[in-house]
Amino acid sequence: MTRWFLFSSVKNTYTEERKYKTMMKIDRAYADWKEGGIKLWDIELRHIAFKIWYMNRLLHNNYNNNNNTLQEWYTEQLSRKKAHTSTLNDMCRHWGVFRVKFYQNHPKINELPDCIRNDNDEPLKLKEIYELMIKDRHPTPRRTEWQKLWAVRYNTAIPKVFININSISHQKGRNTLFRFFSRSLPGINHERDTRCKICGHLFRDPYSHLFTLCQDILDIEKTIISTVNKLSFIKIHRWSMDTLDISKYNRTERIFPNLIGIIAHQLWKIICHKLFNTDESKPEPKFEQKVIETE
Ligand SMILES: [Zn+2]
Repeated sequence: MTRWFLFSSVKNTYTEERKYKTMMKIDRAYADWKEGGIKLWDIELRHIAFKIWYMNRLLHNNYNNNNNTLQEWYTEQLSRKKAHTSTLNDMCRHWGVFRVKFYQNHPKINELPDCIRNDNDEPLKLKEIYELMIKDRHPTPRRTEWQKLWAVRYNTAIPKVFININSISHQKGRNTLFRFFSRSLPGINHERDTRCKICGHLFRDPYSHLFTLCQDILDIEKTIISTVNKLSFIKIHRWSMDTLDISKYNRTERIFPNLIGIIAHQLWKIICHKLFNTDESKPEPKFEQKVIETE
């Protein structure tokens, strides 16, 4: 179900039998939204973080004479440096590895010290433990081949662009632009070196073609440009990958990134209609300044 939600086809129908292809490699998916990931949980790491958190609480309670019976039994084993249960053994080991990696100056576990504390002098929270570990395991999200290519061809600033996308308040616009730069828009991802189903031209990359180079987009380019220039202080002369990469513009500007997000979303609606719509009674979405203004 989660997979469906994140990666479903444009038709938005959920059929249990159908396998939804994950469009994002798992190590990128773990990263924060601001880095182009989707903050997916690394369950294994979360599990280990929980053990470390529990061990840390145990030390804290012991230090403050606040242990319950089970915890007393645990600390007694710790003080005798012999753990009888695999659970305790496991918690000790992970806490030890965590200490060595992130808090080397903290006393060792067999000295029965107080817990490891955060910057506010509180016992480390589970979230804080997990975040240290996930950043350590996946320091910077790996870029896709196409993201690397965009960096060369259009000077696209990844992951910087995701920080700016994150500040877009228009929800659908933010979502579309995020999916555009993380290359996870449904339905078009597999298209490579093929003829455009809309204009018939050959393309290598569906993203840059459908959104900026397709004949259908070029036909409305003037309207897009005049819409942007009418509504935003930042003026553009072309509709291109450069315009879509909102990290290239002044960050204090509020309207422009929103506008680009809204336009990208409107274009995506038009593209979807042309590529996937089978219901002829549905009116074709058009690019109109009015539509953009009301959004
Ligand atoms: Zn085309």
